[in-house]
Amino acid sequence: MTADVLVVGSANADLVVATERRPAGGETVLAGDTRTLPGGKGANTAVAAARLGADVALLGALGDDGHGRLLLDSLRSAGVRTDLVRIVDRPTGVAYITVTPDGENAILVSPGANYALRPADVDGALSGAKVLVASLEVPLVTVEHALTAAAEAGVRTVLNLSPVAKVATGVLAALDVLVVNEHEAAWLLGTESAEPARLLELGPRSAVVTRGARGVVVVTRDGVTEVPSPQVEVVDTTGAGDAFTGALAVALARDASLADAARGAVRVAAFSVTRHGAQPSYPHSSELQ
Ligand code: ATP
Repeated sequence: MTADVLVVGSANADLVVATERRPAGGETVLAGDTRTLPGGKGANTAVAAARLGADVALLGALGDDGHGRLLLDSLRSAGVRTDLVRIVDRPTGVAYITVTPDGENAILVSPGANYALRPADVDGALSGAKVLVASLEVPLVTVEHALTAAAEAGVRTVLNLSPVAKVATGVLAALDVLVVNEHEAAWLLGTESAEPARLLELGPRSAVVTRGARGVVVVTRDGVTEVPSPQVEVVDTTGAGDAFTGALAVALARDASLADAARGAVRVAAFSVTRHGAQPSYPHSSELQ
């Protein structure tokens, strides 16, 4: 028996360092202190959902190391169930994040243990779930299997297709909600700009395009709805997309319509950008009043 919201995705240690500039090949640059933070799209989404009071489990893979223990602690203290997190014989995934004074992030991801998540790990995990949320940074074949198995079992499916990749046509055709940002939408469509309504031509029943401070566009077969974001003072937008997806999944598990779920989720994502970090920035429901 799994949780109402089952998240299939990555868990990474984010190693964040501020630097005046990035080294060129063969060069050494001295930078600031390294901060080690729990991250990864799957773990972020699960933490965001659990903070809102939902019953959430993460299906993922970690190494038997300090980074893995940091992630387990963060997941458990947010209330995420970790019985489906496998400990494997590879190092926990790491994202090396350099931040320059102009605020730009450059990120190198070493997926490590995340790439040990296999399609067979999904079998048996779906029973009892209301919503399955998947994102990449784990093998595409595992995500595709999870989405197909969930659709067959009558579980609602949400795919945050980030980092963007080409997903099998049959998988997209069985998908309930595709969540992408504007760049990912344009990449999928092979167009210059996002054109949200055209995403349904790829197969999903509905789609959400996130547009940073402008909020989101919700596309269903009934039409297109723009959902603006509350205007907030931005401190750090890291993990805002994962906060949005986690909150959306919680509302869908509570039988909200997609547009209503998106209205709630933009509030959660806007709150998250007013604080530092990804997981540490996600609100509890009491903070949203
Ligand atoms: P990230 O990679 O940072 O997780 P993303 O590129 O996947 O984000 P965005 O469209 O930048 O996705 O952000 C996701 C959602 O977060 C937006 O649709 C919006 O609801 C919220 N958000 C992001 N930036 C802001 C902002 N400056 N002010 C208010 N809300 C924001």
